Amino acid sequence: MPLKKFKQILSRWRQLPKRHQRILLSLIVIVIAVICWSPSSNLSGEVALPHGQQAGNSSDDFVSDSPEIKPVSDVQIPDNEYTIVAGDTLSGIFQKLGLSQTQMRNILESDQTQALDTLNPGDKLRFWRNKDKLTRFQVYFNPGYYVDFNLLEDGSYDSKVVRLEGVWKQHVVSGEIHGSLYLSARKLGLTPAQIEQIGQMFKDKINFSRELRSGDPFKVVIEDQFVKGQPTGESNLLAVQIINQGRHFNAFLFDNGKYFDEKGQSLTRAFLRYPTRRHYRISSPFNLHRRHPVTGRIMPHYGTDFACPVGTKILATGDGIVTRVIHHPYAGLYIVIRHGSTYMTRYLHLSKSYVHRGEPVKRGQVIALSGASGRVTGPHLHYEFRINNRPVNPMSTKIPMAAAVSRKDMPKFKQEVHKLLTVMDKSP
Ligand SMILES: [Zn+2]
Repeated sequence: MPLKKFKQILSRWRQLPKRHQRILLSLIVIVIAVICWSPSSNLSGEVALPHGQQAGNSSDDFVSDSPEIKPVSDVQIPDNEYTIVAGDTLSGIFQKLGLSQTQMRNILESDQTQALDTLNPGDKLRFWRNKDKLTRFQVYFNPGYYVDFNLLEDGSYDSKVVRLEGVWKQHVVSGEIHGSLYLSARKLGLTPAQIEQIGQMFKDKINFSRELRSGDPFKVVIEDQFVKGQPTGESNLLAVQIINQGRHFNAFLFDNGKYFDEKGQSLTRAFLRYPTRRHYRISSPFNLHRRHPVTGRIMPHYGTDFACPVGTKILATGDGIVTRVIHHPYAGLYIVIRHGSTYMTRYLHLSKSYVHRGEPVKRGQVIALSGASGRVTGPHLHYEFRINNRPVNPMSTKIPMAAAVSRKDMPKFKQEVHKLLTVMDKSP
């Protein structure tokens, strides 16, 4: 500025009243402060970031986040923020920002939690620097989860994981199935991962591609995590209800991270070990090498015989579809149940059947009364368990057993279920 002009300004300044001088002076201070502290001037100044706009936005978010974060460094706004895109390498990013590979290696060495190995597109890296010295570094996954690295005197870094619990807020999503569950749920804002999870929950209960009907209603209670008012992207499905052709299917998340139906029974394929309520004496065990006592020929026994009196209630040992109810000269009246594509159970020598071919049955449902039909020496139930159509010993084979909420946890579970059902009922 030429001296003459400066003198002109100065003399005008002196002519101003004291109050105006003060106002002008403080305005100048504010303008200078804004120029120095504006995050966008910091971010765009040194390095052109490929995602400059995103970086600007999230750095604003970060400022509003900052009151509760206790950084080791005094400066809370990062000098650079970088959003990972597919194909990025850490050394490439450091190079782009003019940071040395030695510093990168020191960061990697102190990365106890392997946070840098789990980076995905969209995750952010934040850099605080003193010229080309990296004083603080952050791997930022979401507002509730990041890893902080701080420079120590010897050039190494100290790393710590920050997890903020924030608050979880519930909301209910409800709709009807049109087309597929996937399309209908996507339209209502569920993520592909959440829909996949629902499919897994009910995979042993409903055949989604065949059994769902247009107009089948469904409701989902979701809780989302918020840290300082911002969604972290973490969410849980608390309850799911699908009404398929009038049949209710419920799933409730309980403490241990598993899903149970409204009665506290596990939703995954599971079997009862015994096909009767009481455990009867085994009159003839499963034996692939059984010899006939008279002929001496090998006559495998593919099932377990229980010495139960005629008229004993016979239970389906798992959820499934009845595929056969037939009279046979040797097996007598017998029932076959298919449980998904892998498992099958057979019940022989019955006196009465309560089910028909094609009927879906539930684990524990009474399907028949035992008897002495077919070629037998006395009343008993012959029970078979097949895996991929190979008979196995139903008493010893590792089969997925029914898991339920424990008796101790049941009151708490029932309370949770009541709460979630009320929430779902209130939603239209
Ligand atoms: Zn038998």
